[in-house]
Amino acid sequence: MARRSTAFWTVDFERQGKQVGTLNIPHSPHEDAWGATRIPLAVISNGSGPTVILTGGNHGDEYEGPIALGELIRDLDPASIQGRLIVLPALNIPAVMAGRRTSPVDGLNLNRTYPGDPAGSLSQQISAFMHDVVYPLGDAFVDLHSGGSSLNILPSAIVEPAPSEEHHRRNVEAVLAFDAPLTVVIGNLGETRTSTASSVGAGLTTVGTEMGGGGTVGIEALKICRNGIRNVLGHFGVIERPVAHAVREERTILEIPGEKGYVFASGDGIFEPFHANGEKVSAGQPAGRIHFPDDPARTPSELTYQQDGILYGRRQPGRVRPGNCCLVVAAPFKGVL
Ligand SMILES: [Zn+2]
Repeated sequence: MARRSTAFWTVDFERQGKQVGTLNIPHSPHEDAWGATRIPLAVISNGSGPTVILTGGNHGDEYEGPIALGELIRDLDPASIQGRLIVLPALNIPAVMAGRRTSPVDGLNLNRTYPGDPAGSLSQQISAFMHDVVYPLGDAFVDLHSGGSSLNILPSAIVEPAPSEEHHRRNVEAVLAFDAPLTVVIGNLGETRTSTASSVGAGLTTVGTEMGGGGTVGIEALKICRNGIRNVLGHFGVIERPVAHAVREERTILEIPGEKGYVFASGDGIFEPFHANGEKVSAGQPAGRIHFPDDPARTPSELTYQQDGILYGRRQPGRVRPGNCCLVVAAPFKGVL
């Protein structure tokens, strides 16, 4: 490892069988001078085959991933797999236990800290561990997200764009194998500091998800997540492909087409949306209004869509401030698959 880290872990990545342990990152707050933050870490290994890394709880208020990966750790018989799974169901454990997107320890969004810093704050040390220690062991990476407290999103599997055609195709095939009702290509406006952008940079076949959100556990979203994990592990050949279920005949592949896909709040008030997720919308169409409860004589501000497509995501809380993301529009994917 090129970068020095004080992190230590209780599993042996090379041992066969099932181990459930922890990644420990020394952390020295007022209450605990020489303590360590414990991040759940499981290794399930048997025979030979690819290594698939699975994470949930990158954001602490996105719950389908941690639930489904906890089940996987408990239920999977190592004898039934070929290869190795490295599973971190609650990657940002302080945020998960706080039910918050960002870490209560250092205030950072873990998913904007990659490739991390082994001498940085706790979140930066977590991403450095993933980038420096875990990614080099892997062939594929699955990062399970949901919309979180502030966004309600249509359950979907996410393609992280890759620089080469060959890598992009690997990502698309794996994401389609997840078999979510929707597949969306999300470039995050070119963001490079996410777990999935970082894993693509490391050459891994990469699968993302957005499973509902609104800070809740979605019944349908959890079902899609559970099945998707099994489907994608079958695709990689680590487990037997799940018994044939009706394969979707029509694949809907969308993308968020850059900044025009987002509708941001223009004022400080209460956001009234005009459409439900999944509805067709078009550029120039009124999208919603911002009301000003402190100034009832003032006419509400109107927001408009800048993009034709379907409403993919919607802000959950009514209260908005300028710049808050109110709506997200996804359009048919125009790139190469
Ligand atoms: Zn997330």
